Order: sequence, then structure tokens, then C-alpha cells
Amino acid sequence: MEKVFKKDDVFEVLIEDISSDGPGIGKIDGYTLFVKDAVIGDRCRVKIMKAKKNYAYAHLEEVLIPSSFRITPLCPKAKACGGCQLQALSYDAELKFKENKVKNNLIRIGGFSEEFIESIKEPIVGMDNPYRYRNKAQYPVGTDKNGKPTAGFYASRTHDIISNTDCILGKEKNKDILEAILSFMEKKGIPAYDEKNQSGIIRHILIREGFKTGEVMVCIVANADKLPYEEELGEMLFKMQGIKSVVLNTNKENTNVILGKKTKVIKGSETITDYLGDLSFKISAPSFYQINPLQTEKLYNKALEYADLHKEETVWDLYCGIGTISLFMAKKAKKVYGVEVVPEAIEDARENARRNGIENAEFFVGKAEEVLPSFYLNEDSDMRFPDVIAVDPPRKGCDEKCLETMLKMNPKRIVYVSCDSATLARDLKILCEEKYELKAWQCYDQFSRTVHVEVCCLLEQLESAKEHIEITIDAEDYYRIKDSEKETEE
Ligand code: SAH
Repeated sequence: MEKVFKKDDVFEVLIEDISSDGPGIGKIDGYTLFVKDAVIGDRCRVKIMKAKKNYAYAHLEEVLIPSSFRITPLCPKAKACGGCQLQALSYDAELKFKENKVKNNLIRIGGFSEEFIESIKEPIVGMDNPYRYRNKAQYPVGTDKNGKPTAGFYASRTHDIISNTDCILGKEKNKDILEAILSFMEKKGIPAYDEKNQSGIIRHILIREGFKTGEVMVCIVANADKLPYEEELGEMLFKMQGIKSVVLNTNKENTNVILGKKTKVIKGSETITDYLGDLSFKISAPSFYQINPLQTEKLYNKALEYADLHKEETVWDLYCGIGTISLFMAKKAKKVYGVEVVPEAIEDARENARRNGIENAEFFVGKAEEVLPSFYLNEDSDMRFPDVIAVDPPRKGCDEKCLETMLKMNPKRIVYVSCDSATLARDLKILCEEKYELKAWQCYDQFSRTVHVEVCCLLEQLESAKEHIEITIDAEDYYRIKDSEKETEE
């Protein structure tokens, strides 16, 4: 009779793998157990918490024989905090896990062979020190059981605050800043926000540092347009090392979104500056800016290498944010067009082009899947058939319409930067169906000690596709013919 697995059953199991979101995976008679906090190679005793037909979530009761990859987490709060998933795994094993995760997705979802994927892989780029790399920290603020204001991180899948003013992914100085604000709140009787009753004032504290400039921004998110004693708080913080900007963001909504729409300056400047390569960027509280600048620079240089620019090329940069990749490429290209859906980011991108004296980059607000086809359909545009298209979409990957138009635009090279290898693999399958070949891929560890990984890929037009275009000249005609062929076939 088939074995039935149920809640509270206890087993001894060897952890054989790591699931894509962190928990260890063990198997008993082909039945899968997901075990949080278990490390690949651990032999452990686990207890089933929730059993489904083919798998269960189990609690790690005891590590019986620890894995050779197991290390003691540097952060004492690692187990309770939902921020890092891989702190108990050695960093070498983490890098292998990440590369394998991407490889498996390219094989399973992308449909590439393992041999091929291995042959074009460039080794993962890890960090020398996989801690203290984040330039931005967002701490939720609450009240502890003694009634004192506290800050920290949410426990996995909840809004319970695990008090911790020294996250080891962020800078040491964040601790001084946070503790100064918490003790100011206590002294002046400024209450933390209470999500349940939607009462109280301070919701979050955001700290951002330009690593190259040392400029720090402190943004207090509050359920108020003005803080009690805000001038005094601003003066106090402004005396601390590096702080150039203290701002108040108002968020009175009952929402999980951290920032509200309105931000005002309490003391100093509205923005801070940072450099990526030799380009300077203006960063305001709501701007998207890569959180690991050291690795970002390496990633962008790889994207630039893959784009292979010699001042003659036309380039589209889709999902361009504040124009970081666009401006990196503009210095080596004839012309770059960036597309981004958030209007404020495009304003920043234009300002960033101006402040760096870059005149060959233009930016457009809108969805990539709408802006790109509108250019393609405009016969007068000289950006219909670019040499290179770079994409850096959010986790959900590229829209089908966007991929379709990219294929029609027929660039020589496509550079795909991705933060989710499953959607990357899905999109590569479409792009490589007939006209493109995956030439190289490389992982960048941008989010050390977490399960997330960034990938940079180069796609090149197939020789056969190049020939075809030379004969037909107009790619649109080519597609018209293809479409009519399809219709006759049907
Ligand atoms: N390339 C930038 C930003 C990458 S993050 C950088 O490296 O800094 C992905 C960006 O895509 C975000 O800025 C997001 O606002 C934007 N975005 C999301 N959906 C989009 C869409 N459909 N069309 C264009 N941009 C989109």
C-alpha cells in the first residue's frame, strides 16, 4: 500500500538539493520534503508541518550530521529574519547553487541542451566580501513588548518585526543612524505606526548611501505631513557622518507599499549623488537604483562588452529605469533610445544624461511592448532596425508583443539582463526559435546570501537570418511574406 504522509510525522532525511527559494529538499520514497533552514548535505530529523499529495513542508527539528557546506550564520537574527535565505550555506556553495539554478532553467524551460549551455557559460562573478554590500536599507518601525520603539526586518511571510538595527548586508553606520532616531522617538514620545489600528506616526526608515561619494540620505516614512520636532531631528541627523539629505515621505494609506507619493525635505538636499563607472547619477528617495553598486558596475561592463559598440551603432535600452545602462552604452554608440514605464524615472534619466553631458541618448515613457511597436510601424524612424537591443525587465520578463517586435526589428545583437532566470529562459526560447543564437551567458551575484541572482546573456543573429535580410532588405516585407505563408499553410 502507498505510504501516506501526514502532519506531525517525523523522519530522518538527507538534504539532497536546494529549492529555488531557499529551503532544503529531501526525499522519502520519492515524496518531496521542503525543509527551511536545512542545508544541502545535512542529515537531519524533520517534522511534517503541512502535507500535500506529492510534497510537504517540514520543520527542521535537529541537524544529525551537518553538511560540509554548513557554516554558522554571521547574523544572529538570520534564522528568524526573512531577508537572507542562504546564510547557513558556505559562499562557494551559494555561487554553485545560483549558477546551477540558472543552468537548469535554461535547460528545462529554455529547451537548450546541457552540453551547449555548459559550452557557452562564463563563470559566475561572485563578491570578495558577500556582506555589507547593500547601498539601501528599509527598516520597518514598530513598538516592542516593553512599549519602546524598535526597528528591524519582517519575519518570513509575516509583518512581525524582528528587531535588528545592524543588518549585515548593509553598512555599519546604519546602526548608529537607526538607534539615534529610535532614541529620539522614545525621548520625544513620537509613536511608531501600528498597522493593525492604523494609528501612530513613524512607519519606515530608509537609509541610502552613494558608495563612491559617501553621501547619505535618511528618509522617514510617516503617517503624517509633519513630524513632531522635525527640525530638531533633522539638525541631529545632519551632524552625523555623511548625511546630506533628511526627507519626510508621507504615507497615510493602509498598504504594504512602503513609500507614499509626497516627499519633502526636512534638512539638506532632496537628492544624493553616486557614480557608476565615471557616470554620475542623481538619486531621489523614490528612484529605483541598483542596490549593489560594486557588482552592478561589473554587470554593466559585461552588457557593454556583449553589445560590442564602436560609436556607429543604434541601440534600444528597454526597461531602462533611470537610464543607467543607456548612458553606459551611449558613450560607445551613435544613438541610444531608452524606454521605461515610470515617468519619474524617465525624468531622472534625462537629467542624468544632461549632468553627464550625454547628447545621443533619448528617453521615452511607456510600456516597452507599446513604445517599441509604435517606432517599428513608423517608417520614417531611423530606430526601426537598431544594431543592438538591450533589455533588463522586472521578474515577469518581457511581454510577448515586445519580443515579437524585437524579432521584427532584427538587431544584430540582443543583450538580455535578467533578475529571474525562469522568465529569461522562457523568453530566450522564443528569441532563439529561428533567428537568434545564444552565444554566452554569465551570472552576477548581486544579492549575496539571498536566493536571487542576476544573469547577462548575449544573443546573436544567425548567419542564415543575416543572409535573408540582405536579400529582402525590408524586414517588414519579410514578415509580411512569412505571415502570408502561414495563412496559406493554415
Ligand atoms: N535597467 C535599469 C532598471 C531595471 S529594473 C537598471 O539597471 O537600473 C526594471 C525596470 O523596468 C523598472 O524600472 C520598471 O519600472 C520597468 N518596467 C516594468 N515594466 C515595464 C514595461 N512594461 N515597460 C517598460 N518598463 C517597465
